[in-house]
Amino acid sequence: MTDSAQNSPPQTAPTATSLTETERKRTEQKKAVPNGVEHRSSVLTSYDPRTSELLGDYAMMGADEVTRTIREAKSAQKWWAGLGSSGRKRWLLDWKKAIAKRAADLVEVVVQETGKPHDDAWLEVMLAVEHLDWAAKNAGKVLDRHKVRSGLVAMNQASSVGYEPLGVVGVIGPWNYPVYTPMGSIAYALAAGNAVVFKPSELTPGTGTWLAETWRTLAPNQPVFQVVTGDADTGAALCRSRVDKVSFTGSAATARKVLAICAESLTPAVIEGGGKDAMIVGGDAKLDAAAEAAVFGGMGNAGQTCVGVERVYVVETVFDDFVALVETKARKLKPGADRGAAYGPMTREAQVEVVRDHVRDALDKGGTAVVGGLDSIREPYIQPIVLVDVPEDSIAVTEETFGPVLVINRVRDLSEAIARANATSFALGASVFTQDTRTGQWVAERLRAGVVTINSVLGFAGVAALPFGGVGDSGFGRIHGADGLREFSRVKSIARQKRRAPLHLLTMDRKARHLRVSKWVFKTRHTR
Ligand code: NAD
Repeated sequence: MTDSAQNSPPQTAPTATSLTETERKRTEQKKAVPNGVEHRSSVLTSYDPRTSELLGDYAMMGADEVTRTIREAKSAQKWWAGLGSSGRKRWLLDWKKAIAKRAADLVEVVVQETGKPHDDAWLEVMLAVEHLDWAAKNAGKVLDRHKVRSGLVAMNQASSVGYEPLGVVGVIGPWNYPVYTPMGSIAYALAAGNAVVFKPSELTPGTGTWLAETWRTLAPNQPVFQVVTGDADTGAALCRSRVDKVSFTGSAATARKVLAICAESLTPAVIEGGGKDAMIVGGDAKLDAAAEAAVFGGMGNAGQTCVGVERVYVVETVFDDFVALVETKARKLKPGADRGAAYGPMTREAQVEVVRDHVRDALDKGGTAVVGGLDSIREPYIQPIVLVDVPEDSIAVTEETFGPVLVINRVRDLSEAIARANATSFALGASVFTQDTRTGQWVAERLRAGVVTINSVLGFAGVAALPFGGVGDSGFGRIHGADGLREFSRVKSIARQKRRAPLHLLTMDRKARHLRVSKWVFKTRHTR
């Protein structure tokens, strides 16, 4: 691909192909790719999920290309680490400016590859840039060597802690937020002094390429941030390539495969998995605000949000009123490709079947559809679906649906709501609506989740200082915030002896008197 082609969204004459046609093309492409990374079809084609229009061809990179990229990254990382946090900050802020200045171009690529509305893509890009800004400006404060108190018994030591880069970090990303999600690893890993090799989803290779190209334009001779395009095998090759850490975002099923590969070489990994986030609505909640948030969290981005709302537990005294409000708001939403559309298509075709299975299971088990139903599920757009009183053992309650579907169930009280919210294997985000601050805090502290919002959904996303990550099938490790910077660092402790200790115990010539005094000090300090 030429430089100019990489700088702008790939342009291809629109073709009036149907989605079936896209499926056919993809199937043919898959057939052309034998298993294994050595003998690969060389082309990865990106499509617009709204129109099936072909957007562009990217390299389907195999093990050789990945290894070559890592080699270049290793050498560039030495320069990058040598700049120190203040030098890196200047480069990263320049990169940030380059992205921000051309944000409209990036938005266009995201819209074309995911089908999401422009406004949603803008929101995603703006949030990603905030994280890059925060990581650049705070890395020095968090990671640079700083003194810690040595304490009474080691007062002759000057103690300090510093965080060193790991080396090269392999970032594997999903397609649903193809800028915001990987930037949560990329920005923090770079700011911590690592080089990054990014494998975007096979559905959004243009977005990853665009990001890498902005870095390449800025620092053509320093491949500190590079992209490798391809599919699952390319991701697997990256995990095998002896990077110093893998940061994976995607489904729990793929996470298991990633970890199995990483285990072979003891490569550490951060796992940002899926979610089945619950919202809890208390009897005293502002119902209109809660309903607005539920509809946004459940239907926004066609429900393809790892920390969106999939389940709502509502205290029974306000259940009917809440459902009525959600019904009214959800019915107004129209998915589509036009600028005024509430949300776009299902980006990944196969997800449509998952949504159908979940809705069918919920209805078969006795749930009721109050908005939409099985007929709402068409390709590539799914109309809003709201289900109530769905049995807790339905897969619509236990598994990630990842579509514009809300399950609303009634509970006796907040304790029952917490118990049900905590009952799935996922634990990524959660939210609670109540007007009582102490109640909100009480619920938040009892929810099994990596992040909880009170009286909003997704309210944390723009707070770069807040660490983000999950529990259980939602993963482990943290991105964002100070913990996100430390996640991509190796801590090193240094104790420098300033003078000989008055009670000199670390010697074979230990004096009995020194030990006697030490025992007395010990008893005085710890037995009172
Ligand atoms: P996915 O698991 O299908 O793929 C994710 C990435 O892994 C892709 O780049 C893919 O090519 C790669 N991959 C696939 N098989 C691989 C293998 N064997 N080895 C290495 N890499 C491999 O997920 P997806 O469909 O792209 O994304 C949707 C999922 O991501 C949902 O479950 C969603 O909840 C989750 N997600 C989580 C977060 C978070 O921050 N926790 C954010 C966004 C999305």
